[in-house]
Amino acid sequence: MEDKVFHAKELIANAIKEYPRIAVACSFGKDSMVVSHIAREVDPNIKIFAVMTQFKPPETFEYLKRMNKKMGLDITVYMVADSVPTILQDKSIKVILLPSKEFEGKAAATRQATGKEIYKVDPDECCRILKVDPTKVAVSGLDAWITGLRNTEGRTRVDYQEVEEKGGLIKINPILTFTETDIWKYMATRGIEAHPWYRLDYRSLGCAPCSNPGGENERDGRWQETSKCGGECGIHTRILKEKVAS
Ligand code: SF4
Repeated sequence: MEDKVFHAKELIANAIKEYPRIAVACSFGKDSMVVSHIAREVDPNIKIFAVMTQFKPPETFEYLKRMNKKMGLDITVYMVADSVPTILQDKSIKVILLPSKEFEGKAAATRQATGKEIYKVDPDECCRILKVDPTKVAVSGLDAWITGLRNTEGRTRVDYQEVEEKGGLIKINPILTFTETDIWKYMATRGIEAHPWYRLDYRSLGCAPCSNPGGENERDGRWQETSKCGGECGIHTRILKEKVAS
């Protein structure tokens, strides 16, 4: 595992040299915590951002607040909301609010037409508005971003590469070859506290209505009983930035 950590640090150091406008995306799941910790060891000032939604469990917001202080992450949170949730009101957290009109309109229309919540009927659209579009805003001023993607997380993550280019944006995946065991080993040896939901048998964390414990593969608990089961929210599959013509 330490060889993988060394390699991850090299990748990050090279990326910082090549793309000074770079940041780490952190969901506050276990992989994000490891990649953020490694990136901070390479550059203690590297920017870290999170995209949060109104459907994240309170435990995630509490954990974000706690780990932001403990690890000195200086986190910037992007969120579709009219106001900063009380739970995130903390001087050490910068929250950038994004307009919620589109989401509220579509959620209400879905409820009216089907009697169900949008995340059950159309999770792709829910994720697009609450996760993908805010991520586009977060990366808009960047040349590259660093993620905690891992190849062994599930069927949708097998083919990713350590360095990828999509649209006008470079994506660095420094812990791509880490196994789930490597992640827990890293967290244990560095004394990084884990999100409390892992003690409840969750293996992959997202919004509360779309995350479930257990599963044969790590991401099996995501979006169960929808067309998106075990899939992706879209931030790793959609184009986040258009190439600027030179
Ligand atoms: S994970 Fe679920 S609740 Fe969260 S944005 Fe996606 S569909 Fe909506």
